[in-house]
Amino acid sequence: MAEADESVGRMEFLLALRQRGIFDQAVLRAMDQVPREHFVDPHLTEQAYADHALPIACGQTISQPYVVAYMTERLAVRPSHRVLEVGTGSGYQAAVLSRLAREVVSIERYRTLADLARGRLKTLGYDNAEVLVGDGLVGAPARAPFDRIVVTAAAETIPDALTGQLAVGGIMVLPLGPHAGSQMLVKLTRTAEGLDREDLIPVRFVPLLAGRAREL
Ligand code: SAH
Repeated sequence: MAEADESVGRMEFLLALRQRGIFDQAVLRAMDQVPREHFVDPHLTEQAYADHALPIACGQTISQPYVVAYMTERLAVRPSHRVLEVGTGSGYQAAVLSRLAREVVSIERYRTLADLARGRLKTLGYDNAEVLVGDGLVGAPARAPFDRIVVTAAAETIPDALTGQLAVGGIMVLPLGPHAGSQMLVKLTRTAEGLDREDLIPVRFVPLLAGRAREL
């Protein structure tokens, strides 16, 4: 019974994404492949495929599936791409990206979250996704340039260190705006001359905070 219930949940999940305007087949396939229930706390498994954010450890959140799909679609990830994610959280977005890209490097400021995410990715065999503990505002200069960068915590200003690690022609998607107020999902494209900016949809993310977390 439990299995049947879950599969219904997953079918509705994909249908809901399509109904909300996610049409990219590769993105839908990746969202279908990654078992979201592995990325949520065990007591929230029943809500794993519901279209809302859920709490994870360290006071953070796993993003709403629609927002993950939408950001991934706007990133236009190709199989040759190397992708940087800032804000590993549960590892779910990294897992989805790993199904689309050649390589994913994801940075998390909480060691606890990074260790949990790394374990999940390993269990699922997503060997092309790597989790680093550190300050994502610094990016991963030794691994740059990246074809795509996605930031999954809200920045108050565009982080220059990250745009500097974007390849020419590269795309970065990030939530931009005040930590307490309304934020806008922004798509930046690196051109030979500079950065093109496109404002996408209003969103609500946890804050992007400088430095590694001091854990209690
Ligand atoms: N992408 C995640 C959602 C993460 S929530 C998922 O799929 O589950 C945002 C995460 O960004 C939190 O875990 C938070 O700790 C992390 N974060 C915030 N500021 C950061 C920084 N400067 N460097 C790295 N991670 C950061």
